[in-house]
Amino acid sequence: MNQSSVPQQDNGPRLLPCQYCGEAYGPEDVARHTEPVRCGPCITCVDKPACFSCRLMYCVCDVHRYRG
Ligand SMILES: [Zn+2]
Ligand SMILES: [Zn+2]
Ligand SMILES: [Zn+2]
Repeated sequence: MNQSSVPQQDNGPRLLPCQYCGEAYGPEDVARHTEPVRCGPCITCVDKPACFSCRLMYCVCDVHRYRG
């Protein structure tokens, strides 16, 4: 039983920073951060992923409306 000190490669999920919200997300949240959402009349946040927070004051999107 001779354990070598070779470092094992950690094949854990790599967290990637989102280009919209800046948060690191795992494979389970890829759709939330990358999948475009056609929300409606708001041209500022249309086709943005669900994690995107619209800064527009009059944004009426349920998914993009900024919740302060
Ligand atoms: Zn995101
Ligand atoms: Zn929207
Ligand atoms: Zn919006």
